[in-house]
Amino acid sequence: MNTDIIATSLRARLAEVQADIARLEQATTQALPAKFADQASDLAQLATDEGREVQQIHEAEHILAALARIEAGTYGICSNCGCDIAPARLAALPTATQCINCAA
Ligand SMILES: [Zn+2]
Repeated sequence: MNTDIIATSLRARLAEVQADIARLEQATTQALPAKFADQASDLAQLATDEGREVQQIHEAEHILAALARIEAGTYGICSNCGCDIAPARLAALPTATQCINCAA
């Protein structure tokens, strides 16, 4: 398996996710508007942004873990049964830690 190609695409995806986190972080730290009516809609947006930020942080964690496994030479090995994870599964889900049998 060519992990170089996977590492390159994981790093590209990580950069995207990190940029998105930074943008959301900025949005959630902006001061609330003066009017209470505006504050209510801003808070609703804030909750949405924070939910999205949490998701993006989780994705970044999964990508970093996958990159660490590539570095350690354990990428593509099922963390549960130790068999090789099918290349098609890794192509669809590069951050997969388990083979299709164990993940099901
Ligand atoms: Zn397995």
